[in-house]
Amino acid sequence: MAALGGALRKGGGAGSRLLAVAVSCQSCRSRSGPCPGDGGHGQPPAAPGRARRAAEPGPAAGSQPAPAEGADTKTYLWARYHEMKKLVYDLLPPGVCNLLNPAAIYANNEISLGDVEIYGFDYDYTLAQYSNLLHSMIFDTARDILIEQFKYPEGLGKYDYIPGFAIRGLHYDVQKSLLMKIDAFHYVQLGTAYRGLKPVPDEELIELYGGTQHIPLYQMSDFYGKECADSYWHRKHLQHGPSLKQFMDIFSLPEMTLLSSVIDYFITHGIEFDQVHLYKDISDAIKDVHVKGVMYKWIEKDLEKYILHGDEIYAVLNRLVNHNKKLFLITNSPFSFVDKGMKHMVGKNWRDLFDMVIVQADKPNFFTDRRKPFRKLDDKGSLQWDKISQLEKGKIYKEGNLFDFLRLTGWRGSKVLYFGDHLYSDLADLMLRHGWRTGAIVPELETEIRIINTEQYMHSLTWQQALTGLLERMQMYQDAESKQVLLEWMKERQEIRSLTKNLFNPQFGSIFRTFHNPTYFSRRLVRFSDIYMASISCLLNYDVNFTFYPRRTPLQHEAPLWMDQLCTGCMKTPFLEEMVHIR
Ligand SMILES: [Mg+2]
Repeated sequence: MAALGGALRKGGGAGSRLLAVAVSCQSCRSRSGPCPGDGGHGQPPAAPGRARRAAEPGPAAGSQPAPAEGADTKTYLWARYHEMKKLVYDLLPPGVCNLLNPAAIYANNEISLGDVEIYGFDYDYTLAQYSNLLHSMIFDTARDILIEQFKYPEGLGKYDYIPGFAIRGLHYDVQKSLLMKIDAFHYVQLGTAYRGLKPVPDEELIELYGGTQHIPLYQMSDFYGKECADSYWHRKHLQHGPSLKQFMDIFSLPEMTLLSSVIDYFITHGIEFDQVHLYKDISDAIKDVHVKGVMYKWIEKDLEKYILHGDEIYAVLNRLVNHNKKLFLITNSPFSFVDKGMKHMVGKNWRDLFDMVIVQADKPNFFTDRRKPFRKLDDKGSLQWDKISQLEKGKIYKEGNLFDFLRLTGWRGSKVLYFGDHLYSDLADLMLRHGWRTGAIVPELETEIRIINTEQYMHSLTWQQALTGLLERMQMYQDAESKQVLLEWMKERQEIRSLTKNLFNPQFGSIFRTFHNPTYFSRRLVRFSDIYMASISCLLNYDVNFTFYPRRTPLQHEAPLWMDQLCTGCMKTPFLEEMVHIR
């Protein structure tokens, strides 16, 4: 409670008003009219400040009587609309914006760091955060491979990387050449389907999927991050060719943009193409940039330019070791590359901090396939041939598998916390099969939280929820004039939904939400990670024994009777300012 008290004091007036909202929202539930602190769906109060006023005596929206029989319902509906709008816009306290902290750690599951004895890390985009400069270099190089080696048209050379075109977590329908965002219920979010660089009209999209925007499960090749090759449905339907691919890692941003650019070129020049070949060629060209080591060379040449927040990584690792935690690294990257990056970030003795270093691990197979034994590398990175019967501190291992790792270290269960940026390759198996605790690194969180903190977003979303509540409650008015009003409201709601979506990304919106649902990506983030954060350095904001408590988000049949929406992530963490000297 001390932490919350401190946070409330720091939050100032806005915090107190939030508290008042949560309390007063319960009292307005017993009234006959709409609860302005509720979108009409039993959700937590959307607009702090509103509900309190509604619960007080006065001309609040909830106190309006229904129109008498024969009265003008159209006038009544618009009166309710304007009252609600006034409530939303007048009573949103200025301090309520900017409350979320982009450097906070968010919890899906309760976890106490005090119980964690062993910390494991992925390397690329987990310990080493890279500059976005890499994206355009990957794009350019893969594009040139397509032209020079795959003999694609030279006109493609005119396409440059478009920063911010795509977002992580999108699906690509190979057969239909469609890039799109899919929600947790497997529905395509309307307005987010692109063929090439142009949007596909909603009607066309629905027609393409046989009169629906729902994608059947068997087409989702990456359900739970795994090929469903064993399933009857998957075998039956995939004999017609591959179906949907989900782009999950951060390297896939240039891949999606290249795919869209090439399709755009073919369409605008009226050139017919085979969708499957095109997808495969682009995927191979991008792979060449990674696998053949081109990208490693760029990074090694100018570590200062490409690796971000190196000092903070040093501070995180050092602090953990000083608190007697054991550290290990499991990465798919080669030793020489990791060694250079770690020396740059942590110093030449970085290996002293780690109990175990495993490179070229071949995740996610590392977590599921027992067959590959560990191999040892000498200090120069040369492969040794001897059989591995123990894993020693200070040595470097290659390949191997998690089953041997568990047997040789005894590091089992929830005393181990592993961080990675790839939900499927890094985290899914650990969560589903092995019971380690997991932390997801989601760099996009920082930008998205800054947008959520803006007044524009806050006002749009709050009004959108209030309007949704009005629609739900007023739908009983079915005369022609009322229906017309409701139609106008629906149109306005749709416009606001698009507006709030576009604040994140004009093509695809937020990586976490479709209009009102979690995205396919988001659902898996919640399923596969105990905690998630923008970068590993967020750990510096918390005590090493900190316990993360997830918000108890009300289920649809539950009333929001508790107030812990006020805690996690809504306030600055109490440690933030105290820890600032470490950063
Ligand atoms: Mg990674």
